[in-house]
Amino acid sequence: MRYPDKILSQVEKPARYTGGEWNSSRKDWDKTKFHIALSYPDVYEIGTSNMAVGLLYETLNNNKDVDCERVFMPWLDMLRLLKENNLPLISLENGRPLKDFDAVGISIGYEMTFTNILTILDMGGIPVKASERTDADPLVIGGGSSCYNPEPVADFFDMFVIGECEDLISSLIDRFLSCSTNGRLDKKKFLLAVSGLPGVYVPSLYRPKYHDGEFDGLEAVDGAPLKIRRQIAKDLPFAATHPIMPYIEAVHDRAGVEIARGCTRGCRFCNAGIIYRPVRERPIDDVMNAIRDCIDHTGYDEVSLVSLSSGDYSKIDELISRIRHEYGDSLTVSLPSLRLDQHSLELLESLSASRKSGLTFAPEAGSEHMQRVINKYIKREELLETSSLAFSKGWTGLKLYFMLGLPEEEMEDVQGIVDLVKAVQQTGRSRRCQVRLGVANFVPKPHTPFQWEGQHTGEVLTAKHDLLKNQLSRLNVKINWTDTDISVMEAALSRGDRRLCEVVYRAWKSGAVLDTWSECFDFSIWKRAFEECGLDLYHYAQYKRTTDMVLPWEHLDMGISRSFLLRELKKSHDGELTDDCRHGCNGCGLTKTECPMIG
Ligand code: SF4
Repeated sequence: MRYPDKILSQVEKPARYTGGEWNSSRKDWDKTKFHIALSYPDVYEIGTSNMAVGLLYETLNNNKDVDCERVFMPWLDMLRLLKENNLPLISLENGRPLKDFDAVGISIGYEMTFTNILTILDMGGIPVKASERTDADPLVIGGGSSCYNPEPVADFFDMFVIGECEDLISSLIDRFLSCSTNGRLDKKKFLLAVSGLPGVYVPSLYRPKYHDGEFDGLEAVDGAPLKIRRQIAKDLPFAATHPIMPYIEAVHDRAGVEIARGCTRGCRFCNAGIIYRPVRERPIDDVMNAIRDCIDHTGYDEVSLVSLSSGDYSKIDELISRIRHEYGDSLTVSLPSLRLDQHSLELLESLSASRKSGLTFAPEAGSEHMQRVINKYIKREELLETSSLAFSKGWTGLKLYFMLGLPEEEMEDVQGIVDLVKAVQQTGRSRRCQVRLGVANFVPKPHTPFQWEGQHTGEVLTAKHDLLKNQLSRLNVKINWTDTDISVMEAALSRGDRRLCEVVYRAWKSGAVLDTWSECFDFSIWKRAFEECGLDLYHYAQYKRTTDMVLPWEHLDMGISRSFLLRELKKSHDGELTDDCRHGCNGCGLTKTECPMIG
């Protein structure tokens, strides 16, 4: 089916719902054996730019027996029209309601999209709670970076894939087909069959226990494994080279080639630095081939070399020079996530002699004390030299990202941000260069050394915000903030246990939708949902857990040892740095077969 014109003509961006884009894949429904709808639970422009979704879409559709289609979260106008006209949410390719698929795969990249997941399932004709679904309903599978603590949404999924699923896909499909009769899956049989596979977590096979109001571990039933080991791919999977070309502007309008996965720097607040370990680089010839392929299949004139720290790619200089040699100025290259140092500037200079409008770097902390706490140390002199050099070479603006409310942070550390920004501004004053700030509130993330820490209270965060605001407004420095209420929600949902499923459900029932959008987010709905469930939102966000407590995500084994995380936590309290593990293994717990960097 297709949405009728009379519906599409009433929405702001009809192309969000029509499909048919270049590089999309429309297969014959009746000639394929396994149908999966893939979703990123936010609107089309965001979901379609998500690299993980793009890679999975291409991987799955490369299998001739598989039909992988896409579905995203409708915007408010479309949601209203679908409800008023009693129309289901349909896939972009064959226009099928989600309930027709064998499986729905949802890539969760941000906790604030949890209620969108429920909307997508519900509008697709699928009961939102796994316990209410039958064998006739699709299997609902979760994955992605916000699944490393899936407990707050465990009730809505049949299974999660923890880690890199590329190697798992074919065995999951084989088992799916072998557990199906006449096209109907025996779900229980299938879930029991896959629950022992590395990287597969079936939440219905685990019962949570609580003691004195706190989570006290999970009990495995039906022989499910006590720990679920993250699936780690030995090498990077092939690079997706047929990205979908949207008809409307998406958040990323360029080709993206992943040059490396993982990061060796060991910033203590960063969960990506843990859950994507170890570092695996794509060989330089493969990167060049992927760029060529991508450009051929899209016509893009810009490519982003994607990695958590692209300047750390061991052959980055050679790569840039090969791209320059082959494409000259006809291809713009962007390097996300560069460190603020002179090498980064040299790289950026070699990329573009003309476009020097703005630079973006993330020092995260302003004082040496905090840099040591978080293990992201950049010498102040080096930072100022780099900014001075950048301004002298023609860059006219610098955006700096900081995090507020980090563990151990005092007011003088916030003052340190002000002092640093003043000094940076001074380096560009004679050229009237602009310094801007992006400020996020610290959220203690699962599986990091800071997983035991709590978030600062709203009063403390507000006082810190005020200090920054008052002092920097005098300097005419523009600041972008993350809303404190959103940060509280993010912290509670990131570190919650299974009791939060009911909170998410009630919030959704009460109208929480598109919470990542400030115009839609309604904090009062969430506060009420927590109250109705007899749970304390602020406790979840701010409670500092002791290291002998069981954490709601500890049954998911990232391969990083608890002793390593505790060691890093202690070092943060002592202000001790841990060196980049390219200079020597820090013994995080990965094995020799998993980490190519262990000598
Ligand atoms: S095993 Fe060693 S080298 Fe590999 S990621 Fe862990 S600390 Fe770094």
